[in-house]
Amino acid sequence: MSDYGHELRFGSFLTPSVHAPDQVVALAELTEAAGLDLVTFQDHPYNAQFLDTWTLLTWVAARTQRLRISGNVLSLPLRPPAVLARAAASLDRLSHGRFELGLGAGAFWEGVEGMGARRLTPGQGVAALREAIDILRGVWDDAADGPLRQDGEYYPVPGMQRGPKPAHDIDIWLGAYQPKMLALTGQKANGWLPTLEYLRSPDRVTANRLIDEAAVAAGREPREIRRLLNLFTVDVSARNRGFLQGPTEQWVEQLLPLVLDEGFSTFLIGRDDPRLIQTLGQEIAPALREAVAKERAGHGAGPGRVRTTVALAERHPGLDYDALPTSLAERSVEPGDAQYESVRHTYSRSGSPALVIRPQDAAEVVDAVSYARTQDVPLSVRSGGHGISGRSTNDGGVVIDMSRMNKVEVLDRATRRVRLEPGARWGDVAQALHPYGLAMSSGDYGDVGVGGLATTAGVGYLARKHGLTIDHVVAAEIVTADGRLLRVDDEHHSDLFWAVRGAGGNFGVVTALELEAYEVGNVVYAQLVADATDSAQLLGRWGQLVEDAPRELTSFLSLFPGRRGNPPAAQVTLVYAGDDVEAAQSALSPFLEIGPILDQQAQLVPYAAIVAPPGNQHRGQGLEDTRSGLLHHVTPQAADLMANMIHSGDVMIMQLRSVGGAVNDVARDATAYPHRQQNFSVLAATVPDRRPQLDKLWAELYAHLDGLYLSFESDTDPARLLDAWPEPTLGRLRAIKATYDPDNVFNRNFPIPPATPAGPVA
Ligand SMILES: Cc1cc2nc3c(=O)[nH]c(=O)nc-3n(C[C@H](O)[C@H](O)[C@H](O)COP(=O)(O)OP(=O)(O)OC[C@H]3O[C@@H](n4cnc5c(N)ncnc54)[C@H](O)[C@@H]3O)c2cc1C
Repeated sequence: MSDYGHELRFGSFLTPSVHAPDQVVALAELTEAAGLDLVTFQDHPYNAQFLDTWTLLTWVAARTQRLRISGNVLSLPLRPPAVLARAAASLDRLSHGRFELGLGAGAFWEGVEGMGARRLTPGQGVAALREAIDILRGVWDDAADGPLRQDGEYYPVPGMQRGPKPAHDIDIWLGAYQPKMLALTGQKANGWLPTLEYLRSPDRVTANRLIDEAAVAAGREPREIRRLLNLFTVDVSARNRGFLQGPTEQWVEQLLPLVLDEGFSTFLIGRDDPRLIQTLGQEIAPALREAVAKERAGHGAGPGRVRTTVALAERHPGLDYDALPTSLAERSVEPGDAQYESVRHTYSRSGSPALVIRPQDAAEVVDAVSYARTQDVPLSVRSGGHGISGRSTNDGGVVIDMSRMNKVEVLDRATRRVRLEPGARWGDVAQALHPYGLAMSSGDYGDVGVGGLATTAGVGYLARKHGLTIDHVVAAEIVTADGRLLRVDDEHHSDLFWAVRGAGGNFGVVTALELEAYEVGNVVYAQLVADATDSAQLLGRWGQLVEDAPRELTSFLSLFPGRRGNPPAAQVTLVYAGDDVEAAQSALSPFLEIGPILDQQAQLVPYAAIVAPPGNQHRGQGLEDTRSGLLHHVTPQAADLMANMIHSGDVMIMQLRSVGGAVNDVARDATAYPHRQQNFSVLAATVPDRRPQLDKLWAELYAHLDGLYLSFESDTDPARLLDAWPEPTLGRLRAIKATYDPDNVFNRNFPIPPATPAGPVA
């Protein structure tokens, strides 16, 4: 017998009494408040004295934030697996990955039969459960080919659509006592969930051995199966000092051998007793964790990551997975994990990283950076995964994915101070600030992440009125290459604070940003579609109108090539930052003259309504190759060259965004975005096999450009660094890089070479 090294978990096992529904829910909430990990409920659908467990699970999931939830155990004969699979995946998605599936082959057959289900012998029950597990996993595997079909004796599935995929790999824990059930647990389950009082110590030893043997025979590791234990006859105030009937020290002393010698790692108390729940969370769990950690350290062991043999086979050879700190073990996704598909790619690039680490707080980011530094593989940092350069994924490297750090807080309404975590999407930010009458202009797409955009510039729909996003950043929290978490602002590490606002990706992992938002209520949002046969003239007119317009007006223009005999088309978005409809009308109406208008609409809407809500599944679907630059004016020559591009058929889209206005009020050296005189940002994008043609066309426009906004550029030519950061900006950045990241750990996205000791400029 041995310790399987699992992280310890503690929870409650509650009675879903129909007579006290509020009390059951309150005990579940207390389970969370007491710091426990898991709440579970009995499931007796044939008993009218109990609430329906599934309904209760859903209710409790909605009333809690952190707690895992499970039946203990669900009665399979009354919960047909094909439906159960969908219900489980749905609840897992709704609860953001907090559902686990405790399952039993069936008991209380009289009640089960009374509800119309078939009575099974113990042997049949095991066979039916085996079929059910295959159906559950088959439904959850939505990437598998074709519909799910299974010739089952108990649960035939002639053909059903797969999905939905759960939010995380749902554990299946079996309530098992008999040898065949124990063998099934070893072969197929993720956990064994018996009740202590039903098993004597020698029975536990035998049961664990049977599970282990069956696991090994099935090509699995015994560690893949978590051992959980329900505890009923327990107390903290009892004086008789029987087993688990005494104070905390006694619990620790008696539970310790169950962990270290018998491998149990999850303890669920089956008493509806608030005081016991509280004591378990606040005293017993921390004390046992400490004692176990001490013993494990003494034996050189720690809670390890448990991976199936199949998953282990998919690990990348270049990465030392065992060196990953235990704090990150549960935060990481590897190629063999079910969640891998959803985290490997970004919006514009497919990737196959060896490991994606998803920290929950800054301390975990510190651990992630420290670990990544020890590995000789690429390191990418990702927030929203919308980076156009696609460098927030990689092949064979580590990705630090900040998507779980996504809080949006209004710190002080009076000073309009807001705090954003990098994993938040701008659509979420707009929604969260709207009730306060505040906004922060970001861009045109709500799925873009805070981390990537607010560390480079942020050219948004309110740019001419309110400037760039970075112009409103007042402080940042950042984990630097040496593993320090720094708060930087005008007074603390002001050099780094300057660099973060324009070149942030080069200096560390930003874990939070504080910004001063501004008052924005409704805005006027208009869209025009125009025939762009004469693209050059349209571009020229649009450019002039934008420059002549009041600052309230910001405009983005997208140009698409003609298709199937249709002429090229221009889509123009115009945003008037204010609710003065008359003033908006007079600012917008000149744009009706840019060319033949095919469609038009204008509305007065809240700013939050014009930033599309997030929710994209990233599959590398965006255009991979972009070229970008900045223009002072849309001159006739530049307009001709851009028109050529769109008429060539080699460019799939051209976009121009107005900057200027308030963007140019900021001094060139105030931030690491020095482009404060240009009025337009230009981007052209195409598919990989047209890249040479794009480059040729772009080379002609290049002479008319002055600088580039790196968030729109996918070129990896180091020469582009000087376009993004013309001197003296680049020299200053190189000197700061030498201070904070001399080994160039953050070297994926427009990597700035650290200055050499001889001097800052190469
Ligand atoms: C459809 C679309 C529309 C867009 N529209 C606009 C627009 O209107 N205006 C505009 O300004 N931009 C726009 N962008 C560009 C966008 O701002 C950048 O691509 C930005 O980097 C995306 O941020 P992200 O967090 O989603 O990206 P990610 O892909 O997660 O990250 C991109 C890069 O940013 C850096 N980074 C990310 N997170 C952090 C962090 N926490 N700390 C330090 N560095 C980090 C890394 O170097 C990373 O490679 C658009 C992009 C797309 C795809």
